Amino acid sequence: MSRISFTRATLQARKRIALVAHDHCKEFLLDWSERQRDKLARHHLLATGTTGLLLSRRLELPVESMISGPLGGDQQIGARIAERRVDMLVFFWDPFEPQPHDPDIKALLRVAAVWNIPVACNESSADYMLSSALLDQAHDYRIPDYTAYLDGRR
Ligand code: PGA
Repeated sequence: MSRISFTRATLQARKRIALVAHDHCKEFLLDWSERQRDKLARHHLLATGTTGLLLSRRLELPVESMISGPLGGDQQIGARIAERRVDMLVFFWDPFEPQPHDPDIKALLRVAAVWNIPVACNESSADYMLSSALLDQAHDYRIPDYTAYLDGRR
């Protein structure tokens, strides 16, 4: 792809929120999600395997679980972002420990930037994200436009 062009798309009011936490950050995510349960309950939640299991138990809400992160769950979420099937990402990655699936983590963060979805990598930014007036509204945002590329027009 030589040159990227962009277009506008609409994020629906009910968001598809992906949640991921590395092992030493899982308690932070669980405590945060419990505090934000009422807001999260209005949206579709999905998560990497272990995070999803723990969240569904703590929140008693449905959470669609991928496989575990180190086994490819981050990539599954990344693929969904590229397919525009994930609208927001809450990703408590561990700044203190190296991870065996570091390339997958970078890829997930990269694809979230490419598709211009909101990303929160710690509790404070996740609080800001969930207190946005946009959370429960449909709104427009900018996304890459690859239709011309696929059509072979450039
Ligand atoms: P997990 O994966 O939720 O399966 O622990 C998270 C990760 O390490 O990416």
